[in-house]
Amino acid sequence: ADHDGVPSDYSIEVNSRNTIYSNEFIESKYIYDMNHCEVDHQKKRVSITPRKYQYDFRTKRQVQRTGVMLVGWGGNNGSTVTGAIIANRDKITWMRKEGEQHANYYGSLTQSTTIRLGSNKDGKEVHIPFNTILPMLHPNDIVIGGWDINDANLYDAMRRACVFDYELQEKLKAKMMKMKPLPSIYYPDFIAANQEDRANNLLPKGTKQQDLDRIRNDIRAFKNAHDLQQVIVLWTANTERYVDVRAGLNQTADDILRSIANNEDEVSPSNVFACAAILEKCPYINGSPQNTLVPGIIELAEKYHVFIGGDDFKSGQTKLKSVLADFLVSAGLKLQSIVSYNHLGNNDGKNLSAPQQFRSKEISKSNVVDDMVGANHLLYDKRTNEHPDHVVVIKYVPFVKDSKRAMDEYISSIFMNGLSTIAIHNTCEDSLLASPLIIDLVILTELMTRITYKTNDQEEYHSFEAVLSILSYLLKAPMVPPGTPVINALFKQHRCITNILSACAGIAMDTDMLLEHKTH
Ligand code: NAD
Repeated sequence: ADHDGVPSDYSIEVNSRNTIYSNEFIESKYIYDMNHCEVDHQKKRVSITPRKYQYDFRTKRQVQRTGVMLVGWGGNNGSTVTGAIIANRDKITWMRKEGEQHANYYGSLTQSTTIRLGSNKDGKEVHIPFNTILPMLHPNDIVIGGWDINDANLYDAMRRACVFDYELQEKLKAKMMKMKPLPSIYYPDFIAANQEDRANNLLPKGTKQQDLDRIRNDIRAFKNAHDLQQVIVLWTANTERYVDVRAGLNQTADDILRSIANNEDEVSPSNVFACAAILEKCPYINGSPQNTLVPGIIELAEKYHVFIGGDDFKSGQTKLKSVLADFLVSAGLKLQSIVSYNHLGNNDGKNLSAPQQFRSKEISKSNVVDDMVGANHLLYDKRTNEHPDHVVVIKYVPFVKDSKRAMDEYISSIFMNGLSTIAIHNTCEDSLLASPLIIDLVILTELMTRITYKTNDQEEYHSFEAVLSILSYLLKAPMVPPGTPVINALFKQHRCITNILSACAGIAMDTDMLLEHKTH
Protein backbone atom coordinates (compact mmCIF):
# COMPACT_ATOMS: atom_id res chain seq x y z
CA ALA A 1 0.00 0.00 0.00
CA ASP A 2 1.06 3.58 -0.66
CA HIS A 3 -0.62 4.75 2.52
CA ASP A 4 -0.02 4.43 6.22
CA GLY A 5 -3.28 4.99 8.09
CA VAL A 6 -3.21 6.09 11.71
CA PRO A 7 -5.96 4.84 14.09
CA SER A 8 -8.19 7.28 16.02
CA ASP A 9 -6.66 6.57 19.42
CA TYR A 10 -3.17 7.79 18.43
CA SER A 11 -2.01 11.27 19.37
CA ILE A 12 0.26 13.44 17.30
CA GLU A 13 3.36 15.26 18.47
CA VAL A 14 5.16 17.92 16.49
CA ASN A 15 8.97 18.14 16.75
CA SER A 16 9.61 21.78 16.13
CA ARG A 17 10.67 24.89 17.99
CA ASN A 18 7.47 26.47 16.76
CA THR A 19 5.20 24.10 18.64
CA ILE A 20 5.21 24.04 22.41
CA TYR A 21 3.22 21.65 24.55
CA SER A 22 2.30 22.38 28.14
CA ASN A 23 -0.23 20.66 30.39
CA GLU A 24 -2.77 23.27 29.52
CA PHE A 25 -2.00 24.35 25.95
CA ILE A 26 -0.68 23.50 22.52
CA GLU A 27 1.04 26.67 21.32
CA SER A 28 2.21 27.19 17.76
CA LYS A 29 3.84 29.95 15.80
CA TYR A 30 2.61 30.28 12.27
CA ILE A 31 3.81 32.53 9.46
CA TYR A 32 0.92 33.57 7.26
CA ASP A 33 2.01 34.57 3.75
CA MET A 34 -0.25 37.01 1.99
CA ASN A 35 0.02 38.78 -1.36
CA HIS A 36 -0.87 42.45 -1.31
CA CYS A 37 -1.91 43.40 -4.82
CA GLU A 38 -2.36 46.70 -6.56
CA VAL A 39 -3.98 46.82 -9.96
CA ASP A 40 -2.99 49.83 -12.06
CA HIS A 41 -5.50 49.96 -14.90
CA GLN A 42 -3.68 52.82 -16.63
CA LYS A 43 -0.35 51.06 -16.78
CA LYS A 44 -2.08 47.71 -17.19
CA ARG A 45 0.00 46.20 -14.44
CA VAL A 46 -0.50 44.34 -11.21
CA SER A 47 2.11 44.84 -8.55
CA ILE A 48 2.36 42.21 -5.88
CA THR A 49 4.01 42.54 -2.52
CA PRO A 50 4.24 39.28 -0.60
CA ARG A 51 4.05 39.95 3.13
CA LYS A 52 4.47 37.73 6.14
CA TYR A 53 2.39 37.88 9.28
CA GLN A 54 3.18 35.97 12.41
CA TYR A 55 0.37 34.41 14.38
CA ASP A 56 0.75 32.75 17.76
CA PHE A 57 -2.02 30.21 18.23
CA ARG A 58 -2.92 28.75 21.58
CA THR A 59 -5.28 25.77 21.92
CA LYS A 60 -6.54 24.57 25.29
CA ARG A 61 -5.97 20.83 25.45
CA GLN A 62 -8.77 19.99 27.85
CA VAL A 63 -11.98 19.29 25.92
CA GLN A 64 -14.97 20.79 27.71
CA ARG A 65 -17.92 18.77 28.92
CA THR A 66 -20.34 19.94 26.27
CA GLY A 67 -24.07 19.85 25.75
CA VAL A 68 -26.12 20.85 22.75
CA MET A 69 -29.63 22.18 23.10
CA LEU A 70 -31.57 21.66 19.89
CA VAL A 71 -34.46 23.95 19.07
CA GLY A 72 -36.80 21.54 17.26
CA TRP A 73 -35.42 18.51 19.12
CA GLY A 74 -38.45 16.38 18.22
CA GLY A 75 -38.04 16.94 14.50
CA ASN A 76 -36.55 14.53 11.99
CA ASN A 77 -33.04 15.90 12.40
CA GLY A 78 -33.31 16.21 16.16
CA SER A 79 -34.53 12.65 16.71
CA THR A 80 -32.13 11.19 14.13
CA VAL A 81 -29.02 12.80 15.57
CA THR A 82 -30.07 11.81 19.09
CA GLY A 83 -30.73 8.19 18.17
CA ALA A 84 -27.51 7.96 16.16
CA ILE A 85 -25.38 9.20 19.04
CA ILE A 86 -26.98 6.74 21.46
CA ALA A 87 -26.58 3.91 18.94
CA ASN A 88 -22.90 4.72 18.49
CA ARG A 89 -22.29 5.22 22.21
CA ASP A 90 -24.01 1.93 23.12
CA LYS A 91 -22.55 0.08 20.11
CA ILE A 92 -26.04 -0.99 19.08
CA THR A 93 -26.38 -3.47 16.22
CA TRP A 94 -29.59 -4.30 14.41
CA MET A 95 -30.80 -6.58 11.67
CA ARG A 96 -32.32 -5.75 8.36
CA LYS A 97 -32.76 -7.84 5.25
CA GLU A 98 -29.15 -7.28 4.19
CA GLY A 99 -27.86 -8.55 7.55
CA GLU A 100 -26.43 -7.08 10.75
CA GLN A 101 -25.88 -3.33 10.82
CA HIS A 102 -23.49 -1.34 13.01
CA ALA A 103 -23.81 2.29 14.03
CA ASN A 104 -21.34 4.67 12.38
CA TYR A 105 -20.55 8.33 11.89
CA TYR A 106 -20.34 8.35 8.09
CA GLY A 107 -20.86 11.82 6.66
CA SER A 108 -19.14 13.52 9.57
CA LEU A 109 -16.08 15.54 8.62
CA THR A 110 -14.59 15.25 12.08
CA GLN A 111 -15.30 11.52 12.59
CA SER A 112 -15.00 9.92 9.17
CA THR A 113 -12.37 11.82 7.22
CA THR A 114 -8.59 11.95 7.32
CA ILE A 115 -5.97 14.61 6.78
CA ARG A 116 -2.78 13.93 4.83
CA LEU A 117 0.09 14.74 7.13
CA GLY A 118 3.08 13.96 4.96
CA SER A 119 5.25 10.98 4.12
CA ASN A 120 7.15 8.47 6.22
CA LYS A 121 10.74 7.38 5.52
CA ASP A 122 9.60 4.80 2.97
CA GLY A 123 7.83 7.51 0.99
CA LYS A 124 4.40 6.26 2.03
CA GLU A 125 1.74 8.88 2.60
CA VAL A 126 0.60 9.20 6.21
CA HIS A 127 -3.02 10.09 6.94
CA ILE A 128 -4.42 10.89 10.36
CA PRO A 129 -8.06 10.90 11.41
CA PHE A 130 -9.37 14.46 11.29
CA ASN A 131 -10.16 14.40 15.01
CA THR A 132 -6.57 13.71 16.04
CA ILE A 133 -5.10 16.92 14.64
CA LEU A 134 -6.13 18.79 17.81
CA PRO A 135 -7.95 17.55 20.91
CA MET A 136 -11.64 17.36 19.98
CA LEU A 137 -14.91 16.51 21.62
CA HIS A 138 -16.14 13.00 20.77
CA PRO A 139 -19.75 12.84 19.57
CA ASN A 140 -20.48 10.00 22.00
CA ASP A 141 -19.79 12.49 24.82
CA ILE A 142 -22.22 15.17 23.64
CA VAL A 143 -25.12 15.65 26.05
CA ILE A 144 -28.31 16.38 24.10
CA GLY A 145 -31.40 18.28 25.16
CA GLY A 146 -33.68 20.93 23.77
CA TRP A 147 -37.09 22.30 23.04
CA ASP A 148 -39.96 21.50 20.70
CA ILE A 149 -43.42 22.96 20.23
CA ASN A 150 -44.64 19.36 19.96
CA ASP A 151 -44.75 17.22 23.09
CA ALA A 152 -43.77 13.86 21.55
CA ASN A 153 -40.99 12.10 23.42
CA LEU A 154 -37.91 11.31 21.37
CA TYR A 155 -38.95 7.71 20.74
CA ASP A 156 -42.28 8.80 19.29
CA ALA A 157 -40.49 11.55 17.38
CA MET A 158 -38.06 9.00 15.89
CA ARG A 159 -40.95 6.75 14.86
CA ARG A 160 -42.75 9.69 13.28
CA ALA A 161 -39.60 10.54 11.32
CA CYS A 162 -39.52 7.10 9.59
CA VAL A 163 -35.75 7.31 9.18
CA PHE A 164 -34.31 4.41 11.20
CA ASP A 165 -34.94 0.71 10.64
CA TYR A 166 -37.60 -0.78 12.89
CA GLU A 167 -35.27 -2.91 14.99
CA LEU A 168 -32.99 0.02 15.67
CA GLN A 169 -36.00 2.06 16.80
CA GLU A 170 -36.95 -0.69 19.22
CA LYS A 171 -33.43 -0.93 20.61
CA LEU A 172 -33.39 2.83 21.18
CA LYS A 173 -36.86 2.86 22.71
CA ALA A 174 -36.03 2.58 26.42
CA LYS A 175 -33.63 5.52 26.38
CA MET A 176 -35.44 7.75 23.95
CA MET A 177 -38.86 7.38 25.58
CA LYS A 178 -37.44 9.11 28.62
CA MET A 179 -36.29 12.13 26.61
CA LYS A 180 -38.86 14.90 26.41
CA PRO A 181 -38.44 18.26 24.72
CA LEU A 182 -38.93 21.36 26.85
CA PRO A 183 -41.91 23.57 25.98
CA SER A 184 -41.02 26.16 23.38
CA ILE A 185 -41.99 29.49 21.91
CA TYR A 186 -44.58 29.57 19.13
CA TYR A 187 -45.45 32.77 17.30
CA PRO A 188 -47.72 31.39 14.54
CA ASP A 189 -46.89 34.19 12.15
CA PHE A 190 -43.36 32.86 11.54
CA ILE A 191 -43.78 29.24 10.45
CA ALA A 192 -46.34 27.79 8.05
CA ALA A 193 -49.97 27.72 9.20
CA ASN A 194 -49.93 23.97 8.48
CA GLN A 195 -47.72 23.47 11.58
CA GLU A 196 -50.40 24.65 13.98
CA ASP A 197 -51.60 21.18 14.97
CA ARG A 198 -48.08 20.31 16.17
CA ALA A 199 -48.03 23.16 18.67
CA ASN A 200 -49.07 21.46 21.92
CA ASN A 201 -45.95 21.99 24.05
CA LEU A 202 -45.72 25.71 24.60
CA LEU A 203 -44.40 28.04 27.24
CA PRO A 204 -47.18 29.71 29.22
CA LYS A 205 -48.56 32.67 27.30
CA GLY A 206 -46.65 35.79 28.20
CA THR A 207 -44.51 38.53 26.75
CA LYS A 208 -41.46 38.05 24.55
CA GLN A 209 -39.33 39.29 27.44
CA GLN A 210 -40.76 36.48 29.60
CA ASP A 211 -40.03 34.01 26.80
CA LEU A 212 -36.43 35.20 26.65
CA ASP A 213 -36.02 34.88 30.40
CA ARG A 214 -37.53 31.40 30.43
CA ILE A 215 -35.26 30.16 27.65
CA ARG A 216 -32.26 31.61 29.49
CA ASN A 217 -33.40 29.74 32.58
CA ASP A 218 -33.74 26.51 30.61
CA ILE A 219 -30.17 26.86 29.35
CA ARG A 220 -28.85 27.49 32.84
CA ALA A 221 -30.83 24.57 34.29
CA PHE A 222 -29.56 22.20 31.56
CA LYS A 223 -25.98 23.30 32.17
CA ASN A 224 -26.30 22.72 35.91
CA ALA A 225 -28.22 19.45 35.67
CA HIS A 226 -25.53 17.88 33.49
CA ASP A 227 -22.59 19.70 35.04
CA LEU A 228 -21.54 21.12 31.66
CA GLN A 229 -18.76 23.56 30.89
CA GLN A 230 -20.12 24.51 27.48
CA VAL A 231 -23.62 24.58 26.00
CA ILE A 232 -24.25 25.19 22.31
CA VAL A 233 -27.74 26.15 21.15
CA LEU A 234 -28.57 24.97 17.64
CA TRP A 235 -31.72 25.76 15.65
CA THR A 236 -33.00 22.73 13.75
CA ALA A 237 -36.65 23.73 14.10
CA ASN A 238 -38.87 24.63 11.19
CA THR A 239 -37.85 27.23 8.69
CA GLU A 240 -39.30 30.59 9.61
CA ARG A 241 -40.15 33.42 7.27
CA TYR A 242 -37.67 36.26 7.04
CA VAL A 243 -37.96 39.04 9.60
CA ASP A 244 -37.84 42.68 8.54
CA VAL A 245 -34.51 44.31 9.20
CA ARG A 246 -34.77 47.97 10.01
CA ALA A 247 -33.46 50.74 12.21
CA GLY A 248 -34.99 50.75 15.67
CA LEU A 249 -36.12 47.12 15.34
CA ASN A 250 -33.00 44.96 15.14
CA GLN A 251 -30.12 46.92 13.64
CA THR A 252 -28.15 47.19 16.88
CA ALA A 253 -27.78 45.10 20.03
CA ASP A 254 -29.77 47.68 21.97
CA ASP A 255 -32.51 47.66 19.29
CA ILE A 256 -33.11 43.93 19.46
CA LEU A 257 -33.14 43.76 23.26
CA ARG A 258 -35.46 46.76 23.38
CA SER A 259 -37.72 45.21 20.74
CA ILE A 260 -38.00 42.07 22.85
CA ALA A 261 -38.77 44.16 25.94
CA ASN A 262 -41.43 46.04 23.93
CA ASN A 263 -42.99 42.77 22.72
CA GLU A 264 -42.50 43.81 19.08
CA ASP A 265 -44.47 41.64 16.62
CA GLU A 266 -41.51 41.43 14.24
CA VAL A 267 -39.29 39.52 16.72
CA SER A 268 -39.26 35.84 15.74
CA PRO A 269 -38.91 32.80 18.02
CA SER A 270 -35.42 32.20 16.60
CA ASN A 271 -34.47 35.82 17.41
CA VAL A 272 -35.43 35.14 21.02
CA PHE A 273 -33.48 31.85 21.13
CA ALA A 274 -30.38 33.47 19.64
CA CYS A 275 -30.48 36.36 22.14
CA ALA A 276 -31.07 33.98 25.05
CA ALA A 277 -28.07 31.85 24.03
CA ILE A 278 -25.79 34.85 23.58
CA LEU A 279 -26.82 36.43 26.88
CA GLU A 280 -25.97 33.09 28.52
CA LYS A 281 -22.62 33.14 26.69
CA CYS A 282 -23.54 30.05 24.69
CA PRO A 283 -22.70 29.81 20.98
CA TYR A 284 -25.75 29.84 18.71
CA ILE A 285 -25.89 28.05 15.33
CA ASN A 286 -28.70 28.51 12.81
CA GLY A 287 -29.33 25.31 10.83
CA SER A 288 -32.27 26.77 8.92
CA PRO A 289 -32.35 29.41 6.21
CA GLN A 290 -34.18 32.29 7.89
CA ASN A 291 -32.33 35.52 8.69
CA THR A 292 -32.33 35.07 12.47
CA LEU A 293 -28.87 36.56 12.81
CA VAL A 294 -29.84 40.16 12.06
CA PRO A 295 -27.24 42.94 12.50
CA GLY A 296 -28.39 43.60 16.08
CA ILE A 297 -27.83 39.97 17.06
CA ILE A 298 -24.41 39.94 15.41
CA GLU A 299 -23.54 43.04 17.44
CA LEU A 300 -24.84 41.38 20.59
CA ALA A 301 -22.63 38.33 19.93
CA GLU A 302 -19.61 40.56 19.36
CA LYS A 303 -20.34 42.44 22.57
CA TYR A 304 -20.59 39.26 24.62
CA HIS A 305 -17.71 37.52 22.78
CA VAL A 306 -19.94 34.60 21.87
CA PHE A 307 -19.71 32.63 18.63
CA ILE A 308 -22.62 32.53 16.20
CA GLY A 309 -22.84 30.59 12.95
CA GLY A 310 -25.27 30.01 10.10
CA ASP A 311 -27.23 29.70 7.93
CA ASP A 312 -28.89 26.45 6.83
CA PHE A 313 -27.21 23.03 6.88
CA LYS A 314 -25.42 22.30 3.60
CA SER A 315 -26.48 18.70 3.21
CA GLY A 316 -27.24 17.40 -0.27
CA GLN A 317 -28.15 19.33 -3.38
CA THR A 318 -26.30 22.50 -2.42
CA LYS A 319 -23.20 20.58 -1.40
CA LEU A 320 -23.05 18.98 -4.80
CA LYS A 321 -23.75 22.33 -6.44
CA SER A 322 -20.88 23.95 -4.60
CA VAL A 323 -18.62 21.23 -6.02
CA LEU A 324 -20.02 21.02 -9.56
CA ALA A 325 -20.15 24.75 -10.17
CA ASP A 326 -16.58 25.03 -8.89
CA PHE A 327 -15.48 22.20 -11.17
CA LEU A 328 -17.16 23.66 -14.25
CA VAL A 329 -16.03 27.24 -13.78
CA SER A 330 -12.51 26.16 -12.75
CA ALA A 331 -12.37 24.03 -15.88
CA GLY A 332 -13.08 27.13 -17.95
CA LEU A 333 -16.58 26.02 -18.89
CA LYS A 334 -19.26 28.66 -18.79
CA LEU A 335 -22.05 27.44 -16.58
CA GLN A 336 -25.20 29.08 -17.98
CA SER A 337 -28.17 27.45 -16.32
CA ILE A 338 -28.80 25.59 -13.08
CA VAL A 339 -32.25 24.24 -12.39
CA SER A 340 -32.88 22.32 -9.18
CA TYR A 341 -36.04 20.43 -8.37
CA ASN A 342 -36.66 18.89 -4.97
CA HIS A 343 -39.50 16.90 -3.63
CA LEU A 344 -39.76 15.63 -0.13
CA GLY A 345 -42.47 14.32 2.14
CA ASN A 346 -41.35 15.08 5.67
CA ASN A 347 -42.60 17.85 7.94
CA ASP A 348 -39.85 20.16 6.67
CA GLY A 349 -41.33 19.75 3.17
CA LYS A 350 -44.80 20.44 4.51
CA ASN A 351 -43.65 23.65 6.18
CA LEU A 352 -41.75 24.69 3.03
CA SER A 353 -44.90 24.30 0.94
CA ALA A 354 -46.00 27.69 2.32
CA PRO A 355 -44.73 30.59 0.18
CA GLN A 356 -42.95 32.68 2.83
CA GLN A 357 -41.07 29.71 4.26
CA PHE A 358 -40.18 28.49 0.76
CA ARG A 359 -38.86 31.98 0.06
CA SER A 360 -36.39 31.69 2.97
CA LYS A 361 -35.07 28.43 1.50
CA GLU A 362 -34.99 29.85 -1.99
CA ILE A 363 -32.80 32.73 -0.84
CA SER A 364 -30.38 30.49 1.04
CA LYS A 365 -30.05 28.17 -1.96
CA SER A 366 -29.64 30.97 -4.47
CA ASN A 367 -26.20 32.45 -3.81
CA VAL A 368 -24.10 29.31 -3.81
CA VAL A 369 -22.33 29.91 -7.09
CA ASP A 370 -21.72 33.65 -6.67
CA ASP A 371 -18.11 33.45 -5.50
CA MET A 372 -17.09 31.04 -8.27
CA VAL A 373 -18.79 33.12 -10.96
CA GLY A 374 -17.41 36.32 -9.46
CA ALA A 375 -13.87 34.94 -9.51
CA ASN A 376 -13.87 34.32 -13.26
CA HIS A 377 -14.30 37.54 -15.23
CA LEU A 378 -13.04 35.79 -18.37
CA LEU A 379 -16.27 33.82 -18.56
CA TYR A 380 -18.70 36.27 -16.94
CA ASP A 381 -18.83 39.93 -17.87
CA LYS A 382 -18.43 41.97 -14.70
CA ARG A 383 -19.87 45.16 -16.23
CA THR A 384 -23.25 43.56 -16.85
CA ASN A 385 -23.08 41.43 -13.70
CA GLU A 386 -23.46 38.38 -15.94
CA HIS A 387 -24.61 35.34 -14.06
CA PRO A 388 -25.98 31.85 -14.78
CA ASP A 389 -29.76 31.42 -14.60
CA HIS A 390 -30.52 29.66 -11.36
CA VAL A 391 -33.95 28.35 -10.40
CA VAL A 392 -34.96 26.28 -7.38
CA VAL A 393 -38.26 24.39 -7.04
CA ILE A 394 -39.40 22.54 -3.90
CA LYS A 395 -42.55 20.40 -3.77
CA TYR A 396 -44.17 18.53 -0.91
CA VAL A 397 -44.92 14.88 -1.73
CA PRO A 398 -45.90 13.13 1.52
CA PHE A 399 -45.36 9.57 0.23
CA VAL A 400 -41.59 9.88 -0.07
CA LYS A 401 -41.34 10.99 3.59
CA ASP A 402 -37.76 11.86 4.62
CA SER A 403 -36.37 10.34 1.44
CA LYS A 404 -35.80 13.49 -0.51
CA ARG A 405 -35.38 13.60 -4.27
CA ALA A 406 -33.13 16.22 -5.75
CA MET A 407 -32.91 16.62 -9.52
CA ASP A 408 -30.55 19.08 -11.07
CA GLU A 409 -29.69 20.13 -14.57
CA TYR A 410 -26.51 22.04 -15.32
CA ILE A 411 -25.99 23.49 -18.79
CA SER A 412 -22.62 24.94 -19.73
CA SER A 413 -21.27 26.57 -22.85
CA ILE A 414 -18.12 24.73 -23.84
CA PHE A 415 -15.41 24.98 -26.48
CA MET A 416 -16.53 26.83 -29.62
CA ASN A 417 -20.02 27.30 -28.17
CA GLY A 418 -21.02 23.68 -27.87
CA LEU A 419 -23.28 22.81 -24.97
CA SER A 420 -22.75 20.34 -22.19
CA THR A 421 -25.71 19.25 -20.10
CA ILE A 422 -25.30 17.33 -16.88
CA ALA A 423 -28.38 15.88 -15.16
CA ILE A 424 -28.29 14.53 -11.64
CA HIS A 425 -30.79 12.54 -9.65
CA ASN A 426 -30.17 12.05 -5.96
CA THR A 427 -32.39 10.11 -3.56
CA CYS A 428 -31.47 10.20 0.08
CA GLU A 429 -32.86 10.37 3.61
CA ASP A 430 -32.53 14.04 4.36
CA SER A 431 -31.97 13.62 8.07
CA LEU A 432 -29.12 11.16 7.53
CA LEU A 433 -27.36 13.95 5.64
CA ALA A 434 -28.09 16.72 8.12
CA SER A 435 -27.38 14.85 11.37
CA PRO A 436 -23.61 14.42 10.89
CA LEU A 437 -23.44 18.13 10.09
CA ILE A 438 -25.06 18.90 13.44
CA ILE A 439 -22.39 16.78 15.11
CA ASP A 440 -19.57 18.55 13.25
CA LEU A 441 -21.01 21.99 13.97
CA VAL A 442 -21.01 21.21 17.69
CA ILE A 443 -17.52 19.68 17.68
CA LEU A 444 -15.89 22.47 15.67
CA THR A 445 -17.66 25.21 17.63
CA GLU A 446 -16.52 23.70 20.93
CA LEU A 447 -12.98 23.51 19.56
CA MET A 448 -13.05 27.14 18.44
CA THR A 449 -13.95 28.23 21.98
CA ARG A 450 -10.58 26.75 23.08
CA ILE A 451 -8.46 28.44 20.40
CA THR A 452 -7.03 31.94 20.80
CA TYR A 453 -4.45 33.83 18.75
CA LYS A 454 -2.11 36.79 18.99
CA THR A 455 -0.42 38.70 16.18
CA ASN A 456 2.98 40.37 16.52
CA ASP A 457 1.57 43.71 17.50
CA GLN A 458 -0.90 42.34 20.03
CA GLU A 459 -0.14 41.84 23.71
CA GLU A 460 -3.08 39.63 24.58
CA TYR A 461 -4.58 36.51 23.08
CA HIS A 462 -7.96 36.94 21.37
CA SER A 463 -10.74 34.67 20.22
CA PHE A 464 -11.63 34.52 16.54
CA GLU A 465 -14.37 36.85 15.21
CA ALA A 466 -17.81 36.22 16.73
CA VAL A 467 -19.24 35.16 13.35
CA LEU A 468 -17.67 31.74 12.91
CA SER A 469 -17.03 31.69 9.16
CA ILE A 470 -14.83 28.59 9.57
CA LEU A 471 -18.12 26.64 9.71
CA SER A 472 -18.88 27.59 6.08
CA TYR A 473 -18.21 24.06 4.81
CA LEU A 474 -21.24 22.87 6.76
CA LEU A 475 -23.63 25.68 5.84
CA LYS A 476 -25.53 26.57 2.71
CA ALA A 477 -25.50 30.35 3.05
CA PRO A 478 -22.42 30.85 5.20
CA MET A 479 -22.36 33.86 7.46
CA VAL A 480 -19.11 35.76 7.59
CA PRO A 481 -18.05 38.78 9.64
CA PRO A 482 -19.55 41.96 8.16
CA GLY A 483 -17.57 43.16 5.13
CA THR A 484 -15.61 39.95 4.54
CA PRO A 485 -15.86 37.62 1.51
CA VAL A 486 -18.25 34.66 1.45
CA ILE A 487 -16.76 31.41 0.16
CA ASN A 488 -19.13 28.75 -1.16
CA ALA A 489 -16.76 26.49 -3.09
CA LEU A 490 -16.71 23.28 -1.04
CA PHE A 491 -13.05 22.35 -1.24
CA LYS A 492 -11.92 25.87 -0.42
CA GLN A 493 -14.12 25.70 2.63
CA HIS A 494 -12.65 22.32 3.47
CA ARG A 495 -9.08 23.55 3.13
CA CYS A 496 -9.90 26.58 5.26
CA ILE A 497 -10.77 24.27 8.16
CA THR A 498 -7.92 21.79 7.76
CA ASN A 499 -5.37 24.57 7.19
CA ILE A 500 -6.41 26.60 10.23
CA LEU A 501 -6.36 23.49 12.40
CA SER A 502 -2.96 22.51 10.96
CA ALA A 503 -1.63 25.99 11.79
CA CYS A 504 -2.92 25.67 15.35
CA ALA A 505 -1.31 22.24 15.65
CA GLY A 506 1.94 23.65 14.31
CA ILE A 507 2.20 21.35 11.30
CA ALA A 508 2.89 22.35 7.73
CA MET A 509 -0.33 22.34 5.78
CA ASP A 510 -0.90 20.07 2.83
CA THR A 511 -0.17 22.16 -0.27
CA ASP A 512 -0.79 19.20 -2.60
CA MET A 513 2.47 20.05 -4.37
CA LEU A 514 4.11 16.70 -3.46
CA LEU A 515 7.45 18.21 -4.43
CA GLU A 516 9.22 15.31 -2.73
CA HIS A 517 7.92 13.06 -5.51
CA LYS A 518 8.60 15.46 -8.36
CA THR A 519 12.14 16.57 -7.69
CA HIS A 520 15.54 14.92 -7.23
P1 NAD B 1 -38.93 18.77 11.13
O1 NAD B 1 -40.13 19.53 10.71
O2 NAD B 1 -38.99 17.30 11.18
O3 NAD B 1 -38.45 19.27 12.57
C1 NAD B 1 -38.60 20.57 13.03
C2 NAD B 1 -39.13 20.53 14.46
O4 NAD B 1 -39.17 21.86 14.94
C3 NAD B 1 -40.53 19.98 14.59
O5 NAD B 1 -40.54 18.91 15.52
C4 NAD B 1 -41.36 21.16 15.09
O6 NAD B 1 -42.38 20.76 15.98
C5 NAD B 1 -40.30 21.99 15.78
N1 NAD B 1 -40.54 23.44 15.91
C6 NAD B 1 -41.08 24.32 15.05
N2 NAD B 1 -41.06 25.57 15.56
C7 NAD B 1 -40.46 25.47 16.77
C8 NAD B 1 -40.11 26.41 17.78
N3 NAD B 1 -40.40 27.70 17.67
N4 NAD B 1 -39.49 25.96 18.88
C9 NAD B 1 -39.20 24.64 19.04
N5 NAD B 1 -39.50 23.71 18.12
C10 NAD B 1 -40.11 24.13 17.00
O7 NAD B 1 -37.76 19.27 10.17
P2 NAD B 1 -36.31 18.64 9.93
O8 NAD B 1 -36.36 17.78 8.75
O9 NAD B 1 -35.78 18.10 11.19
O10 NAD B 1 -35.51 19.97 9.52
C11 NAD B 1 -35.28 20.96 10.50
C12 NAD B 1 -34.78 22.24 9.87
O11 NAD B 1 -33.51 22.00 9.28
C13 NAD B 1 -35.68 22.79 8.78
O12 NAD B 1 -35.78 24.18 8.90
C14 NAD B 1 -34.94 22.45 7.53
O13 NAD B 1 -35.21 23.34 6.47
C15 NAD B 1 -33.52 22.57 8.00
N6 NAD B 1 -32.60 21.84 7.12
C16 NAD B 1 -32.67 20.48 6.97
C17 NAD B 1 -31.79 19.82 6.12
C18 NAD B 1 -31.79 18.32 5.95
O14 NAD B 1 -31.07 17.80 5.15
N7 NAD B 1 -32.54 17.58 6.71
C19 NAD B 1 -30.88 20.55 5.39
C20 NAD B 1 -30.82 21.93 5.55
C21 NAD B 1 -31.68 22.55 6.43
